Amino acid sequence: MDKDGAQDSLIELRELARAFSAERDWDQFHTPKNLAMALSVEVAELVEHFQWLPSGADAELDDKKRLGIRHEMADVLVYLIRLADKCHVDLREAVLEKMRLNGEKYPAGLVRGDARKYTEY
Ligand SMILES: [Mg+2]
Repeated sequence: MDKDGAQDSLIELRELARAFSAERDWDQFHTPKNLAMALSVEVAELVEHFQWLPSGADAELDDKKRLGIRHEMADVLVYLIRLADKCHVDLREAVLEKMRLNGEKYPAGLVRGDARKYTEY
């Protein structure tokens, strides 16, 4: 996907989430704090699908679980997009910025095959 395509898809989702909220008069509840809390709850719902599985690899999942994971991923992304919207964060730009910083923190030549945190090496 090219840059414009990537940007367009995030804008499409942001507009969809805005419209969904506006139609229900829920914007009044979508403060950054509430959205951050809702995001955290959705992440927990996603994690719950993997709880107690040996690894969560596809072979350990059935179709019901796969669908649940898919839907919780969607919930997580919608709340993240909504939170970014309310906090005036361009998610695409933020990801590009953070991946550049991560690259500086974790130079491939130094950390290849090493899962330790940057503070541990
Ligand atoms: Mg959910």
